[in-house]
Order: sequence, then structure tokens, then C-alpha cells
Amino acid sequence: MNGENIATPQNTKARHEEVKTKYPGITVKFETYTNIDYLTILARALLEIDNRIIKNETVKNSCNAYFEVMSRDQGIDKQMVSFKKVWESKQILICFWPEPTASFFAMTVGDYITIAEKNFTKPNAVAWVAGTLVHEFAHWAGANQFSTGAEDALPMCGFRDVYTPGLRG
Ligand SMILES: [Zn+2]
Repeated sequence: MNGENIATPQNTKARHEEVKTKYPGITVKFETYTNIDYLTILARALLEIDNRIIKNETVKNSCNAYFEVMSRDQGIDKQMVSFKKVWESKQILICFWPEPTASFFAMTVGDYITIAEKNFTKPNAVAWVAGTLVHEFAHWAGANQFSTGAEDALPMCGFRDVYTPGLRG
């Protein structure tokens, strides 16, 4: 993950067609980051993931192993996708959902991940956004919408402090 994975007005990848979701009646937005405070939190969240997972051999191994088994068991194409593969992806684009009262915290559609504004106003916003990203990365890897597969990635990947046990979807 690097600046190329963040939707900013300057990032040409962000100029995509409207993303369609399968949730009728819910307007999900995949916009760019124009608020410097939110952009800073997002950049720090990516650094937090790097520090807690990539730079920690024990956590990195448990996180990679979790992603591989989960993606093989829950993914539509049954393809093993390690956390490393997600982290090194150049396809993923992290977008902004500019609604403090959005019905979801975040959503992943194809290679587009959108993080709702309410995540950025939490007291522990950096850890919270980082954990939300790990959850969405698990969906990108294959975690389905009906299990606890995405959320259960958090304790396996060093984010037990922002884990919601039992959360489905
Ligand atoms: Zn989810």
C-alpha cells in the first residue's frame, strides 16, 4: 500500500465510473480525500498496519496464515490470498464515503474500498481506520458477507483493540 492506493483528486485511478453495489436503497459513495485531516489519519492508519503487521514477524505470519485459510474457504474462486498479496496490491483503491451517518462503516466492491466518515471522527481514529481497512482487505481477499470472517481477521493481525467479536458482514 502506498499513495497510489489512496483516492485523491490527483490520482487518475480515482476517476472511475460510479461503483454499483448490491445493496438496494443504500447510497454508497466512493469519493476522493480532499480533507487534509482525514487524509492524514488514513496515511497514519496505513503506517500503523505496516508497524503492527509487516514489521512484526509473529503477527505477519499469523495474519498471512489467517488470510490464506479464510480466502480459500470463503472466497468465490477459492483462491488463497495472503495478507502480503493484499498489501502489495496495486489495484486496490481506498476511497472516502463522505457521510457521518452512513449506514455501514465501510464497503468493498471489486478493487474499490470506501471508508465512511464516521470512522475518522472516533477518538482512536488511526487504530480504528487501520482495523477497518484490515476488515475490508479481508473482504477483498474473499471473506463473505454472511460470516464473521472479515472481522475475525483483526485479532489475528494485531488489531484486537478495535475488534468487535461476533460482527458479521
Ligand atoms: Zn464486512
